[in-house]
Amino acid sequence: MSFASLGLHKTLINTVTERGYSNPTPIQNAAIPAILAQRDVMAGAQTGTGKTAAFALPLLHRLLAQNDIDQTSEAGLNNQKYKKISVLVLTPTRELAQQVYNSFTMYSKDSSVQSVVVYGGASINTQISALNKGCDVLIATPGRLLELLTKNLIKLHELKTLVLDEADRMLDMGFIVDIQRILTKVPSGRQTLFFSATFSNEILALSKTLLKNPKLIEVDQRNATASKVEQVVYQVDNNQKSALLSFLIGSKNWKQVLVFTRTKQGADELAKEMQKDGIATQAIHGDKSQGARDRVLADFKAGKVRALIATDIAARGLDIQNLQYVVNHELPYNAEDYIHRIGRTGRAGSTGLAVSLVSEKENYLLADIGKLVEENFNPRWFPGFEPDLNAPSETKKKREPSKKALRAHALGVDRKKNKKPQRRR
Ligand code: AMP
Repeated sequence: MSFASLGLHKTLINTVTERGYSNPTPIQNAAIPAILAQRDVMAGAQTGTGKTAAFALPLLHRLLAQNDIDQTSEAGLNNQKYKKISVLVLTPTRELAQQVYNSFTMYSKDSSVQSVVVYGGASINTQISALNKGCDVLIATPGRLLELLTKNLIKLHELKTLVLDEADRMLDMGFIVDIQRILTKVPSGRQTLFFSATFSNEILALSKTLLKNPKLIEVDQRNATASKVEQVVYQVDNNQKSALLSFLIGSKNWKQVLVFTRTKQGADELAKEMQKDGIATQAIHGDKSQGARDRVLADFKAGKVRALIATDIAARGLDIQNLQYVVNHELPYNAEDYIHRIGRTGRAGSTGLAVSLVSEKENYLLADIGKLVEENFNPRWFPGFEPDLNAPSETKKKREPSKKALRAHALGVDRKKNKKPQRRR
């Protein structure tokens, strides 16, 4: 099927053609007609499948078609002057919010549709003045949106469509209460579009409270990793991982590689070590200011930074065109994060390579991931970086901490005091 045969507005057809999209992706083929028909949608799709355009294009179509009608009547011209927020997209992270905003502005560049993005860590006054100029589409992280709502700086009573993007990650980040509060401020007759890369019972329970007779779309096997990504696992001792990583980047001449660590501190330390090895490296995580994160990302995209070290939360939503290499310097405690990580490469049909550096201590995590993605990983040794078999076994040294304890440690949670993880807004 072509974009034109989906019945989209000509402005949108022109933009996607300019962007070089020859045909809709499977999720776009399934979601666009349902969204145009005003149905609720619950979609599970692999990351990088074109899901942003799957909701952005039909929602923009509706706004453009309304604008065409408004041009012909005086009441309509007034409508255009006093824009009301008609679409709200909620995202878990600032980066994803910015990414979705970029997509909306890019697809609607030749029209009067206005999109605004709001998130924490950036000036609220700048965001308010952008909102005051008129806003059809608002893209927001939950915390900043609630701040604007409670200060009565925006109203959502005319909202037509609510989109929850990466709903699984929103729950992981503890946004459920914020989402429930936001839901009390939006009309019950709205259309709701629910996107999640992975499904859990919690996600299904939330979707049931939000959606009315949704069209269920699943373009690929649940919890499957991006299909065009080759996955390689090297068994390597912890103290050799950084050297092996630098060696891989140098010897294979990788120009742009995204590397994952579990903690912010780990990301900073690894970045320093790799800089010492002469590789242009930067870290991106929640402790960096928004300005610093934007700069690092821009430098990475422009090829000035060769290796970008990221934590799971910071990396969510990053869309780097043609990213070919992803490295797991440490495996994630949460197996589903592996899917998100390696989904950063092999996007929209291109191929990618995901390399995991796995120490003996992490073998149980690899087993969990293998079960989830139904992959029989076959760990290899890299010549010159073979594990030291004479060293005392890491796993026998002391009792393995529970996965819960390790995850709490990575999130900086004091479990004894039962403190909740700090949310980034
Ligand atoms: P997303 O899954 O929304 O993060 O999109 C992943 C990437 O696919 C983005 O870089 C989009 O620009 C690109 N993309 C979206 N739709 C298409 C399409 N129909 N053909 C080719 N690329 C696309």
